Amino acid sequence: MRIGTPISSSATRVMLLGSGELGKEVVIALQRLGVEVIAVDRYADAPAQQVAHRAHVVAMTDGTALRKIIEAEKPHLIVPEIEAIATDMLVEIERETLAEVIPTARAAQLTMNREGIRRLAAEELGLKTSPYVFASTVEEVRAAVAKVGLPCLLKPVMSSSGKGQSVIKSENDIGKAWDYAMTSGRVAQARVIVEGFIKFDFEITLLTVRAKGASGAVETTFCEPIGHIQVDGDYVESWQPQRMTPVALKKAQDIAARVTGALGGRGIFGVEMFVAGDDVWFSEVSPRPHDTGMVTMASQRQSEFDLHARAILGLPVDTTLASPAASAVIYGGLDEPAIAFDGVAEALAVPGSDLRLFGKPESFKKRRMGVALAHAADTDSARANAKLAAARVRPVSTSFHTQKVTAS
Ligand code: AMP
Repeated sequence: MRIGTPISSSATRVMLLGSGELGKEVVIALQRLGVEVIAVDRYADAPAQQVAHRAHVVAMTDGTALRKIIEAEKPHLIVPEIEAIATDMLVEIERETLAEVIPTARAAQLTMNREGIRRLAAEELGLKTSPYVFASTVEEVRAAVAKVGLPCLLKPVMSSSGKGQSVIKSENDIGKAWDYAMTSGRVAQARVIVEGFIKFDFEITLLTVRAKGASGAVETTFCEPIGHIQVDGDYVESWQPQRMTPVALKKAQDIAARVTGALGGRGIFGVEMFVAGDDVWFSEVSPRPHDTGMVTMASQRQSEFDLHARAILGLPVDTTLASPAASAVIYGGLDEPAIAFDGVAEALAVPGSDLRLFGKPESFKKRRMGVALAHAADTDSARANAKLAAARVRPVSTSFHTQKVTAS
């Protein structure tokens, strides 16, 4: 693997499709290795664009517009950071060998839709999942609920992070759950999955890396399992390692190896699973760094972002845990642009703590604007310290200040 000089004709160029907080860390990891990075998103000044060599603003579901940018920038690698991308265009780009899509165009295509990945995992690979039925009308949902049983979940197939998702506890909830899914999905598509509710002890993300080993062949390695807590389908806290039985860990690794093997290519994957005792259910997989994996910036020798950068460039990886650690999300708490953060010094005074403020140009009450990290002797202490550090960061409005400056 040869790496050139950025901003020269010898540059090794990587284009990120999606420029959020996870992409920002991927860009930093790539820049450290001397890679030229181009960051694309649908809005200007997205976090990863702030640290990239160049940025483009385009609707990433617009295949024609995206293709123009790819033809102009000529990246060697295209790295999707989000799911909502014109993946048919990525398939074309890959077929024409214009660029390598990470991990593969097919993986991006299958994982952008819950139906693609669920059918692959459950029906082709035979992995254990929650019982499920896909539905396209409210009548089909009623039949699906009768089949999978109550309680169950209804999720739009084109959605992630709990968006448009409802728990159905009784048949009376069906109409409302359907209406909610139809108004919140990522793409206007009347298609949902009805999933039986799994009573798990805890849920994990098993970060799984497909990278070139010493022999030059792609090998699969696992990070220690990450435990996390979700509120309304959105992650609020994560920690590593999550203790689990040796039997459950082996099952989780087998599931992760099989599903990532079927998707192929190189890079890191976040494999989400539910665990109860020795039982493990496959839930979802993201062929890219995972939000709950931000904890690895405090827990591992190489964070999930370093691992992704190395794996996609064909370099060796090391998934060793350095210390137990935890992460806690910092929400915007305000609906306005250009907010500020007070309490940063107090937060960083928490032992073993660290902070990432993503630099998003606009805050929403429930928008993830930063994350607090903490390493400690055990995950309980790390969790307490990460939460304490996060709580000390106070998003504040700057609009009064802006008005004063404008007026004077
Ligand atoms: P998802 O958007 O599919 O990742 O779901 C978000 C969160 O909802 C998961 O992380 C779980 O906490 C919860 N969840 C999703 N599916 C199920 C299920 N079948 N049984 C129980 N909890 C679930």
